[in-house]
Amino acid sequence: MKLYNTLTRKKEEFKPIKENEVTMYVCGPTVYDYIHVGNARPMVVFDTLRRYFIYKGYKVKYVVNYTDIDDKIINRANEENKTAKEIAEKYIKAFEEDAKGLNLYEEKTIHPRATEYIRHMIDFIEKLIEKGAAYNVDGNVYFNIESAEDYGKLSKKNIDELISGARVDVNEEKINPMDFALWKKAKEGEPYWDSPWGRGRPGWHIECSVMAKTLLGDTIDIHAGGEDLQFPHHENEIAQSETLTGKPFANYWLHNGMLTIDNQKMSKSLGNFFTVRDIAKEFDLEVLRFFLLSAHYRNPINFSKDVMEQLKNGLDRLYNGKSHLEYLLKNCSDRELTQEDRKSLADIDKFKKAFIESMEDDINTADAIACLFDLVKYANSNFDEKTPKTVVQYTYDNLIELSQILGILSKEEEILEEEILELIEKRTQARKEKNYKLADEIRDKLRDMGIILEDTQEGVKWKRI
Ligand SMILES: [Zn+2]
Repeated sequence: MKLYNTLTRKKEEFKPIKENEVTMYVCGPTVYDYIHVGNARPMVVFDTLRRYFIYKGYKVKYVVNYTDIDDKIINRANEENKTAKEIAEKYIKAFEEDAKGLNLYEEKTIHPRATEYIRHMIDFIEKLIEKGAAYNVDGNVYFNIESAEDYGKLSKKNIDELISGARVDVNEEKINPMDFALWKKAKEGEPYWDSPWGRGRPGWHIECSVMAKTLLGDTIDIHAGGEDLQFPHHENEIAQSETLTGKPFANYWLHNGMLTIDNQKMSKSLGNFFTVRDIAKEFDLEVLRFFLLSAHYRNPINFSKDVMEQLKNGLDRLYNGKSHLEYLLKNCSDRELTQEDRKSLADIDKFKKAFIESMEDDINTADAIACLFDLVKYANSNFDEKTPKTVVQYTYDNLIELSQILGILSKEEEILEEEILELIEKRTQARKEKNYKLADEIRDKLRDMGIILEDTQEGVKWKRI
């Protein structure tokens, strides 16, 4: 399998450290607010990669941390007159609900909280000080980036340019303006932990380095997150971890592209900011998951209500194909396979092979989804009650198996015939009222769902395409 490694800027053959196991660390949410659709992208994309590894037979250790202590959490706590812990608890619970809606494989996810690893962080920082890579100035501890080998190797930033660019924001405590805080001295009224440097709390970057090392080991297979985390977050994680252990921190660095809303950057000030739960009011979150997988993960993706509508119809089509096969399973009989039936089995294998090839190529979910559509279309147009059960079952099993990799089609409810008949009735009514625009819209909607209509003398007939 090939994965694009940000570290080398190349697609590389994936080779895990242990033969049958993959370790993955994905930077998780800072729990001070509900997650937005942009936050959902890495969660869905890397969950899909994890599912694919499981499909391939690997045991996967998968960590998504909660940053439960941070300036944003403290500010929110002050605004709402609550403790930082209460704020964190509230938004962790909200994340869990969203994760369930997005069908993230939560029962297989390890969710460490930063505040549970403070002792480990203090140890880590002490060792960096011993090595001369970090220094304490009056209760603030900084990492000296000049002690890191190849600082900038992930983001391909030039250290000298960074230093001159940072001059404006010079912090007099730091030796070098690009040095970053490992430990922050507590300000009045802030939550704190005791440390050899006095009361304080960890910086953000150290959290991920420590939780990854403690839970997954000095070198992990895959570290992943949004591309906005490449610098400084991931760069700093590499600097402190590799300086401490002298080993590579992660062998593969994977980053997903950014999400825009109606082709604009999402921001609260532009009023185009959607949380996952905002979306859940209008769409099943499975549609959001499907949308997030509809583009290659490294490409930018543009969110709009129109695109969501299209994807909802697309997903309905797949559900429709699934229910068609379920209907046939109940209504077809088994018989000897003819040569034509064997050809059908071989055709299904071709769709499956194309799906797997897409996933092997840097998890190209966009192409993998196209293969599912091909499979469903093939079954809709070639199989009926006369098709032997062996063929229908084989097709159905493959559809379910491949859909599980993407984390879709897991719901039992299907597009019932009732829903189709209701739409046909609405269209007939619209035609009677000479509202041809509406009638055409309904026809188009049905077509998107994989249903075509035929107006006959005996009334409207429909079939699946
Ligand atoms: Zn992180």
